[in-house]
Amino acid sequence: MKRVRKETERIKREKETIYVMMKMYCHDKHHTKEEMCNSCKQLYEYSIQRIDKCVFGLDKPACEVCPVHCFKKDAKEQIKVVMRYAGPRMTFHHPLMAVMHIYDKILFNLKRPKKKIKN
Ligand code: SF4
Ligand SMILES: [Zn+2]
Repeated sequence: MKRVRKETERIKREKETIYVMMKMYCHDKHHTKEEMCNSCKQLYEYSIQRIDKCVFGLDKPACEVCPVHCFKKDAKEQIKVVMRYAGPRMTFHHPLMAVMHIYDKILFNLKRPKKKIKN
């Protein structure tokens, strides 16, 4: 039987925030409506896979402030482009989510993981 790792509320929130940001980016840049285009969908699914396999487990920081950053190079660049575009717009369209994301980043800085992890 496949073991499913429990998720914290914070991880769920991070996944939801990534989804909303990716949809916003795809909608504005690739002119999609309900569904994301294939390349954005792939990037989104890849990001979720990385989060599910995160070496920090349930204590993972927000990927944005992660000292390891396990994403492969091209995905890392693509996600940065999405974040740069959607980040400032989140404050206007999804203020609560934006505030919680900032809160999560601050929280991570206050309690950085103590484990030494090789990239
Ligand atoms: S970027 Fe960092 S926090 Fe995000 S999934 Fe990879 S190791 Fe975990
Ligand atoms: Zn797209």
